[in-house]
Amino acid sequence: MGKIILTGDRPTGRLHIGHYVGSLRNRVKLQNEEQYDKYYIMVADAQALTDNFDNPQKIRDNVIEVVLDYLSVGIDPNKVVIFLQSEVSALTELTFYYMNLVTVARLLRNPTVKSEISMRGFDNTVPSGFLNYPISQTADITAFKANCIPVGDDQLPMLEQCNEIVRKFNSIYGDVLVECEAYLPQKEAERRVPGIDGKSKMSKSLGNAIYLADTKEEVARKVMLMYTDPDHIKVSDPGKVEGNIVFLYLDIFANDEHFKKYLPEYQNLDELKNKYRAGGLGDVVIKKFLINVLEEELEPIRERRHYYENHLDEVYDIIKKGTQQAIEDANKTLIDVKKAIGIDYFSNQQFYLEINDKYKQG
Ligand code: ATP
Ligand code: MG
Repeated sequence: MGKIILTGDRPTGRLHIGHYVGSLRNRVKLQNEEQYDKYYIMVADAQALTDNFDNPQKIRDNVIEVVLDYLSVGIDPNKVVIFLQSEVSALTELTFYYMNLVTVARLLRNPTVKSEISMRGFDNTVPSGFLNYPISQTADITAFKANCIPVGDDQLPMLEQCNEIVRKFNSIYGDVLVECEAYLPQKEAERRVPGIDGKSKMSKSLGNAIYLADTKEEVARKVMLMYTDPDHIKVSDPGKVEGNIVFLYLDIFANDEHFKKYLPEYQNLDELKNKYRAGGLGDVVIKKFLINVLEEELEPIRERRHYYENHLDEVYDIIKKGTQQAIEDANKTLIDVKKAIGIDYFSNQQFYLEINDKYKQG
């Protein structure tokens, strides 16, 4: 079987450099390698409503932001189907049938969901829709028979859950669904980028992010606020590199060319780290370097975004066309699923013949 790629994002805010490193960069790489049969990227608005049901305007407003972010990092709508989850009703139908295959205890054990429940203060008030979102994510993946999922590592428990449902479905109803695999960034540090506060994962919901659409000034301001080493007070003090967010971001983004261009006193990151450890290197120097390094990546993204902000008709058509395609493709799987369960009453003569057979006069 060929490669079918699917991934998505919740329209709860603009996308940030954590998304870029954890998933978007890999998506563009996969797109450009062109070794796939189908490629889908979904704006998960229905999933976003599971914990934002009381603020639907926020979700509606962010749909366009997320699609602009896709296009600005270089996702090509001629190669990738970009679609809106809530418009594809086959996905909610599939979710309903998959719900029978998972226990509530299993859902509560999901470590990502567990930490999200406590982060959102949902401890005794978790909406059942939120608890169920890994099941709806299984519907998203299986509806397109996707087997390659470019994500950050917070998604691993979701994919494990998805594959459990697939195996259970296939063992009860027959081989219809396909198992999937995560496509993770190579470097460990890129799989879960921390926020500028240095504490939790960079996340749209936590206000600790550098957004792809931030202006140069905003990026600089956020970098200058970054946490480094609290014991590195005077320039001459020895500093710690481990746990220092500026170095963590440099590990992800900086290369030797950047040193030649912006900090020629050092050849590479190892030299810079050694100097910082020894003392005599101020935080302002490393922060200014990081700003330059980030700008190299963010400037072209900002420019492409600017183009699409001025061509919104094009963007609207991309989402509409992609969604129509997704509806068509997901419906095919829904038909297979209903047939496997035996709830395809009017798709052919079979049900009619069965009821007649049953009551056929002797
Ligand atoms: P929310 O707070 O609304 O859940 P989020 O910032 O976690 O938003 P999602 O839309 O849930 O973003 O995640 C989209 C994709 O980005 C997923 O593949 C996820 O693994 C990846 N991702 C999100 N945050 C990070 C991060 N800090 N580092 C690496 N990958 C990330
Ligand atoms: Mg998330």
